[in-house]
Amino acid sequence: MSVCLSVRSLCESCTGKPFFKVRKEANFLVIFILQELEQNLPVLAPDSSVLSSPPSDDIQVTWLGHASVLVQMDGLNILTDPVFSGFCGPNQFMSFKRYRPAPCSVDELPNIDAVCISHSHYDHLDLKSVKDLNQRFGECLHWFVPMGLKSWMSNAGCKNVTELEWWEETQFSKQKSNDNVTKFVFTPTQHWCRRTLMDENKVLWGSWTVVGPKHRFFFAGDTGYCKGFKQIGKQYGPFDFAAIPIGAYKPRLEKYIVANLRSGQSYLSLNRA
Ligand SMILES: [Zn+2]
Repeated sequence: MSVCLSVRSLCESCTGKPFFKVRKEANFLVIFILQELEQNLPVLAPDSSVLSSPPSDDIQVTWLGHASVLVQMDGLNILTDPVFSGFCGPNQFMSFKRYRPAPCSVDELPNIDAVCISHSHYDHLDLKSVKDLNQRFGECLHWFVPMGLKSWMSNAGCKNVTELEWWEETQFSKQKSNDNVTKFVFTPTQHWCRRTLMDENKVLWGSWTVVGPKHRFFFAGDTGYCKGFKQIGKQYGPFDFAAIPIGAYKPRLEKYIVANLRSGQSYLSLNRA
């Protein structure tokens, strides 16, 4: 079964626009939207017994909020852009408060084998979450990151870090054998990155294409619709699962994050190219 998960970006820190401009307009709607969400899309804690025993012949996916997704396939537990903090920013005084809590903590995750980071925006790369994952899993964890981010990850305590350029591939196996080898490919997106006033686009951004012995999934991170979708689909598709963002509607930000219909089009491009 093929599945597309569209992840709405709740934090405008990655839009390139000053946050206060959109925040002023959005504040009037926040309470109403949160009530709507609680009714129609409540935050549910994942069932630990389900996470600890994924099916051996299928792919199991758990959305952990924003761009954080736990993908369990082909004997691996893979986490994307893990953010479990209550805010996004350099510290709690210069940050954007999270609208809705993460559904679980790092301590409640099953054993994680690999983490894929799409880009360095604060709502996709959270220092506290990285440190918490390192504290719990240590050297058992392998980090796959964009080119230019390895030194940051090492400073955060990450031991096993692979940084890749677009279209670069690397193979990963939990048992360090040739059995059950999974290929991690860093693939292009249409986006950008910045964490400070001085580091705009100093680190690469992108998506992750993960090709296992039986299943394959695509994680877009943040992206506008671009020709890369068809190229990725042609080279690595079709996919069993894809996590694709939905952009904010005001202001329109399709250059950096696909809008609703484009998200579906992106998925079709991945599978039909
Ligand atoms: Zn971003």
